[in-house]
Amino acid sequence: AKNHGRGTHRFFESVLAAQIRDRRSLEHDLRHAAERGELRVVYQPQMAVGSGTIVGFEALLRWQHPERGNVPPDRFIPIAEETGSILGIGEWVLRETCREAASWDRKLRIAVNVSAVQLHAPGFAELIHEILFTTGLAPARLELEITETALVRDPVRALATLRRIKALGVRIAMDDFGTGYSSLSNLRAFPFDKIKIDRSFIRAVDVNRETAAIMRAVLGLGRGLGLPVLAEGVETSAELAFLDAEACHEAQGYLLGRPGPIAQFAEHTREETGD
Ligand code: C2E
Ligand code: CA
Ligand code: CA
Ligand code: CA
Repeated sequence: AKNHGRGTHRFFESVLAAQIRDRRSLEHDLRHAAERGELRVVYQPQMAVGSGTIVGFEALLRWQHPERGNVPPDRFIPIAEETGSILGIGEWVLRETCREAASWDRKLRIAVNVSAVQLHAPGFAELIHEILFTTGLAPARLELEITETALVRDPVRALATLRRIKALGVRIAMDDFGTGYSSLSNLRAFPFDKIKIDRSFIRAVDVNRETAAIMRAVLGLGRGLGLPVLAEGVETSAELAFLDAEACHEAQGYLLGRPGPIAQFAEHTREETGD
C-alpha cells in the first residue's frame, strides 16, 4: 500500500510515454501519406428534402495506413492541423475533388471541408482560384464547409479571405452549427450561404420535444436570414419526415447514403445512356 502511489505514477508515466510515441509515429507517417497514395476521398450525397433529388456531395477524407488500417479523420486531422501537414493534405483534397466534380455529366455541387489552418494560410483564396482554373470546375459548384471554430483564431483575416473566395463565386457553408464556439453573430458577420446543423440536433427529432424545438428555431433563423439549412446525420425515415414537414431544405446522412467511392453514385453523376 505504501508504494501504491509511486506504482500508479509509473503506470501513468508509461501510458503517457506510449501515447507520445504513438502520436509521433502518426505525425511522421502523415507527412508522407499523400505522396504514398494512402489518402483517398469518399463522397456522401446531399439531398433536396422537398424533391428527394441528390443536389451534391460532401467530400470526406480517408487514410488507409499500411499497418494501422483505416485511421478515422477525427483522429488524424487534428494532428495534421497542429503539425501543418493539413496544408498539403487539404490542397490535395481540393484538387482531387474539383477535378473529380469537373468530370461529372451532371453539374452537381461538391462540398469540401476546410480547416482553420488552411483558411488562415497566406494565399488561400488565390489557391482556390488557381485550382478552379486548373480543373475547369465552375466556381458556383464548389462549396467550402467551415466551422465557427475556424473563424475565432483571427476573425478579421478570416473575413477578408472569405470575401475574396465569395468574390470568385464559390459558396460558403457554416459546418457543425450549434456546437463549439457557436454564436449567432457569426451568421451576420460572415458571408455564409448555408447553415449545416450538427447531427446531434437531428437525433430523435421526431420523438424528442427539446430537439424538435431547437431544429424548428434553426429553420426559422435560416428563413429569417435567407439561408438554406442542411440537416446532417439523418439516419431514420421518421427524422426525414420531420425535416420534410418543417420545410428543411437539404439533408445528408446514412439514410440517404453512406460516404463511399464516387463510382457508387454514378447514377447521379452520369447522364442516362439510354440503354
Ligand atoms: P463533418 O464535416 O461534420 O462530416 C460529417 C461526418 O459525419 C463524417 O464523418 C460522416 O461520415 C459522418 N456522418 C454522415 N452521416 C452520418 C449519419 O447519418 N450518422 C452518423 N453517426 N454519422 C454520419 P467522418 O467522415 O468520419 O469525418 C469526421 C470529420 O473529419 C468531419 O466532420 C470533418 O470535420 C473532418 N474531415 C473529414 N474530411 C476532411 C477534410 O478533407 N478536410 C478537413 N479539414 N476535415 C475533414
Ligand atoms: Ca463537413
Ligand atoms: Ca458537420
Ligand atoms: Ca464535425
